[in-house]
Amino acid sequence: MNNLSKNYINGEWVNWSGPTLDVHEAGTGDVIAKVPASGRDEMEQAIAAADAAFADWSESSLDQRIKVLEQLHAGLKERAGEIAETVCREVGMPIKLATGIQAGLPATITKTYLKMLPDFPFSEQCGNSEVQYAPVGVVGCITPWNYPLHQVILKIVPAIAAGCTVVLKPAEIAPQSAYILAEILDGTDLPKGVFNLVSGEGQTVGDTLIKHPAVRMVSFTGSTRTGGLIAHAAADDFKRIALEMGGKSASVILPDADLAAAVKGTVNNCLLNSGQTCTALTRMLVPADRHDEACELATAAVARMTPGNPLEATTRLGPLASAQQRDKVIDYIKLGIEEGHTLVAGGPEAPEGCDKGYFVKATVFGNVKPGSRLEQEEIFGPVLCVIPYQDEADAIRIANGTQYGLSGAVWSADADRAKKVASKLRTGQVFVNGGDFNPLAPFGGFGHSGIGREFGKWGLEEFLEVRSLQL
Ligand code: NAD
Repeated sequence: MNNLSKNYINGEWVNWSGPTLDVHEAGTGDVIAKVPASGRDEMEQAIAAADAAFADWSESSLDQRIKVLEQLHAGLKERAGEIAETVCREVGMPIKLATGIQAGLPATITKTYLKMLPDFPFSEQCGNSEVQYAPVGVVGCITPWNYPLHQVILKIVPAIAAGCTVVLKPAEIAPQSAYILAEILDGTDLPKGVFNLVSGEGQTVGDTLIKHPAVRMVSFTGSTRTGGLIAHAAADDFKRIALEMGGKSASVILPDADLAAAVKGTVNNCLLNSGQTCTALTRMLVPADRHDEACELATAAVARMTPGNPLEATTRLGPLASAQQRDKVIDYIKLGIEEGHTLVAGGPEAPEGCDKGYFVKATVFGNVKPGSRLEQEEIFGPVLCVIPYQDEADAIRIANGTQYGLSGAVWSADADRAKKVASKLRTGQVFVNGGDFNPLAPFGGFGHSGIGREFGKWGLEEFLEVRSLQL
């Protein structure tokens, strides 16, 4: 990557000589890169470029859009190794997982849109009307650090496919994969100004992006707090918003479930990316009379997850992405002890042999009380809450008892029963007996977890306005 000191505006790499942001290696704490802490002027230039490019790109042919996305897909494949290592260093996800998820998923998602686009109905007949789906306009994309390229791809691929133009502001903590993306797009036939990248802080360049009148939609992934600011700013100007935010998802293990398989599936999901996953199953609901057995199984499962160097192929649990995130998670573990939940594994001390980098022990609390802060608040680290319940109705009540609703799981020997319970969860997706992740299915949140959907045709529709021609 040769362009980390620049922004990508109107098809050009534009030098930046102002202040910079340090990018740290999660496993060591070392500074590994510096990117621009750009000013509002750079963001305004990028928005102007996207605005100027919109008229032509919104009229581009489907073939032209498909060609660019095919070139992007080829570039993502070609640079997959570099993407995996970059994100592994920035975020701390072990390299084996980063290769499959952080580098693999962006290419997979791009492919799903390439397959869908030729048959997507950009217009349809409705009685005497022709209903047309038109691009929404200039889109501001703001993304977090935990799956830094995946979250960008989920926005820019359907936006470009819809005929929108884009200004991307990547996360400060993990911006480098967005630069790889910009370099790939720079080598495609995408006309200048359709994609722009401005690096910087949320409070400055992000703020300009969400408030600028030329931006007609903000597609955001990040914390519920920032999502709230964006919703307020968008309301003043009636901008469209798509918000993917936090979660505190429940894994409901019904009394007839295979407890060992359900606990293993829940722990693996909870600890993925060291718990820095919005959909993490962080609340494991178990029948009260099997609580202790579930805690023993969870303890055995986390014991196999010794934190280690994320660049080593055998590591299964890496560090957290930043010192700030590590400290926040440790504070939550201390809070869990103060609130009187039972610490059954892990704890607030640094794991042995991990004096550098942002490591935290995989931690399990038992007898966690519904309504407590530990049970209600998103921790975003390797911390599992085991919550006993009395009966099925109690389990559903507890599962639905947070402000969030992003993901969930239900486990039962009876598939129909599991589906019935899953259908009562107020959440955007539910994994039934460990069902597979599906990149074509809609993804998003109920309540404080989000507005709108990503993935598949639902992700594309977010970027389209509807127009009726009455004929
Ligand atoms: P964050 O909200 O702090 O930051 C996200 C992005 O918003 C960053 O690019 C940041 O610079 C920008 N930002 C911050 N303040 C801003 C402002 N005032 N105006 C405009 N932009 C601003 O979130 P984070 O800590 O980077 O990410 C972690 C959060 O993201 C967690 O809550 C997690 O659950 C959530 N998340 C959700 C999903 C999902 O799909 N639902 C996926 C991944 C992460």
